[in-house]
Amino acid sequence: MSGLRAHLLARIAEAGPMSVADYMAACLMHPEFGYYATRDPFGPGGDFVTAPEVSQMFGELLGLCLAQVWLDQGRPVRFLLAELGPGRGTLMADVLRATRGVPGFQGAAEVHLVEGSAVLRAAQRRTIAGDVIWHDRVESLPEGPLYLLANEFFDALPIRQFQRSGDGWRERVVGLSDDRLTLGLGGPVAPPALAERLADTREGDIVETCGPGEAVAAEIGARIAAQGGAALIVDYGDWRSLGDTFQAVKGHVPVDPMAEPGAADLTAHVDFAALARAAAPALHTRLTPQGIFLERLGIAARAEVLARNLSGRALESHLAAYQRLTGAEEMGTLFKVLGLYPEGAAPPPGLEP
Ligand code: SAH
Repeated sequence: MSGLRAHLLARIAEAGPMSVADYMAACLMHPEFGYYATRDPFGPGGDFVTAPEVSQMFGELLGLCLAQVWLDQGRPVRFLLAELGPGRGTLMADVLRATRGVPGFQGAAEVHLVEGSAVLRAAQRRTIAGDVIWHDRVESLPEGPLYLLANEFFDALPIRQFQRSGDGWRERVVGLSDDRLTLGLGGPVAPPALAERLADTREGDIVETCGPGEAVAAEIGARIAAQGGAALIVDYGDWRSLGDTFQAVKGHVPVDPMAEPGAADLTAHVDFAALARAAAPALHTRLTPQGIFLERLGIAARAEVLARNLSGRALESHLAAYQRLTGAEEMGTLFKVLGLYPEGAAPPPGLEP
């Protein structure tokens, strides 16, 4: 039996069933056995591939987008260039390479990374040249204009699930059945945050909440509103949560989230409306599909320039990467972009108010 399964079985035997959020937090971030705490899961040999790992174009365009916001906001002489959950560090490395040509940008930037995994911090240290400051939480970022990126970060934060039952809810919980981890339902509850969802759900519907995600959005929104900057949040999800989106992936295929605690990636779709609401008083943009966002930022022209020096297999894989990032059947519509920006400023390029 895996160390984490034994730990979870003992915890449930002693304290009773746990929320999906507590299960997810343990599976992903348990300091000894957690998925991110123990491995680098990215790439063809890993469990899943993210946009920055698909092509350098993703990070280049996001970097230039942030640099344009920095120019539009009057080039603050010192600012935080921050990323949440940077994985291997590829996105930030591409941002730094692409923005080298923007006069004054890098001299004014202080790079701050929020990363909970020691294994991935080590990977980031290898990938990103120059000074970097790591944080466990957004709260410990220093003051200053905040230019922030988060790709596939919010989907990894623990969610709770509630199933509509009459005029109230029952929480989905992880319990034991014959020593196997199983999903069940807790007793009736009426969380105030879900009161408004009685209007747009029916018996048996599931809604998901992500308290930690809302707390992060509130923190960065307050900072951007007060001190300037912008955030680009990229993830899969939609404008509000409806239905069970709790999922596990291992070796690029979906698996049962209860089957291998700590050995599979667990995620849930992001409720962007909840993040936007939490981020007030920062303003938010319209939710924009990743494909449209990247096309507006000029990915076609960038892809063409890169294609000029390629041929054969390398050219094919470059064109496939372009398609993968933007294509409607691939990441182009499933993934969405939400921008946060201060009142009185222009929204980030590629996004609309
Ligand atoms: N942005 C990267 C990695 C996405 S995976 C990419 O696009 O490739 C999620 C990342 O968030 C990992 O780096 C993981 O270690 C980090 N992470 C997940 N939960 C976290 C938490 N609660 N606090 C800090 N980092 C976290």
